[in-house]
Amino acid sequence: MLTVQQKNIAEKIENNANRRLWRDWKWQLKHSIQDIQTFERLTGIQFTEMERLEIQETLARFPLSITPYYLSLIETGDYKNDPIFKQSFPSVNELTIQKCETADPLHEDHDSPAPGITHRYPDRVLFHISNVCSMYCRHCTRKRKVGDKDFIPDRETLMQGVEYIRNTPQIRDVLLSGGDPLMLSDDYLEWILKEISCIAHVEVIRIGSRMPVVLPYRITDKLVEMLKKYHPVWLNTHFNHPRELTDSSREALKKLADAGIPLGNQSVLLRDVNDCPRIMRSLVHKLVANRVRPYYLYQCDLSEGLSHFRTPVGKGVEILESLIGHTSGFSVPTYVIDAPGGGGKIPIMPNYLISWSANKVVLRNYEGVISVYHEPEAYPATYCDRQCDGCHLQLKLDDAIETQAIGIEQLLADWDEVSSLIPADNARLERREEEE
Ligand SMILES: *Cc1c(COP(=O)(O)O)cnc(C)c1O
Repeated sequence: MLTVQQKNIAEKIENNANRRLWRDWKWQLKHSIQDIQTFERLTGIQFTEMERLEIQETLARFPLSITPYYLSLIETGDYKNDPIFKQSFPSVNELTIQKCETADPLHEDHDSPAPGITHRYPDRVLFHISNVCSMYCRHCTRKRKVGDKDFIPDRETLMQGVEYIRNTPQIRDVLLSGGDPLMLSDDYLEWILKEISCIAHVEVIRIGSRMPVVLPYRITDKLVEMLKKYHPVWLNTHFNHPRELTDSSREALKKLADAGIPLGNQSVLLRDVNDCPRIMRSLVHKLVANRVRPYYLYQCDLSEGLSHFRTPVGKGVEILESLIGHTSGFSVPTYVIDAPGGGGKIPIMPNYLISWSANKVVLRNYEGVISVYHEPEAYPATYCDRQCDGCHLQLKLDDAIETQAIGIEQLLADWDEVSSLIPADNARLERREEEE
């Protein structure tokens, strides 16, 4: 069933456009709204001359694209406060660029050993296989990539990324991202999945796609039949507001979950969209009811033109405070800040550890109740030399992976001599070296 608004929009796009056409993802893509006039005609919203000029200026920098489906979710009566409108329609605020904001705040292009690959963590990579999306999120962290370089890489370019993965045995998890990987045709996507899944050391493939939210008709029976041939395939999507969970998106999620694809959700904390504990609680409940595990809640990145979307970090902590303990553990996402400069995701939590002594830990719970936990009377620190053969613990995993300790792990390991981690440009140590 189409809603009244959907019928209305469908009819304006094409005379006698029926339900079947509306649910055809290629028809939706072909009729994506990319200019102000079409937006006005289909929604009945009228901008002033001044507003049009401002929007036009923003469009020249960051392109507009909204699927008719996502457009149909806008409540036109109060569009200025509408979370769908805010996420999809350009604002003049995008032209305000603060000093701390850059085109590539996460330095994804620096950590790129092959075209499309960002290799940041030891055992997994991000593989950008498309620069296109069906809807351009106004809060996109990769705004630098969309629009002027609007394309899907050819097989030759993608093969360079695949070769990098093949030649790097530490990689056990490949995250297909973009752009939206589901903008690729089923055949092209299958070719990539086939190439990656036949690499012996790749254990999991993940897809990051906003299609279940902005174009749920892309999740066809044919697509899921294809995806499930390459299990384990995981999929993370991007719902930000409970209003985005519609009958159509529920159906898409059901198809994916029924195909055995574990589903996760990555939200971005956005000012005037979802920066509210009640909205977030409603969102996570709707997600788990549809078999989607809230995975991350992101602090909005320092990408150019996003300052109007950013909230203080305290807002995120407040939201987590209202979730942890109050609702099912699996409904609570991990709140993260993706470190500017490329340090990766850093989890942020309210403080639950209030104090500590030699044998006691003082904690508080979500209600404010303060408790003491007694630590074991005697717990001799066992010296670990990493010679597992002589250890009494039965961790004799044949496939235990031997890697070097990294970062804080290094400070805690007995078998590693390192006793401090020092920034590369530490002036005090540079002076020491000069003296020597
Ligand atoms: C987010 C991200 C990943 C995946 O991180 P997980 O915490 O495993 O979900 C991998 N590479 C890059 C560059 C990322 O930004």
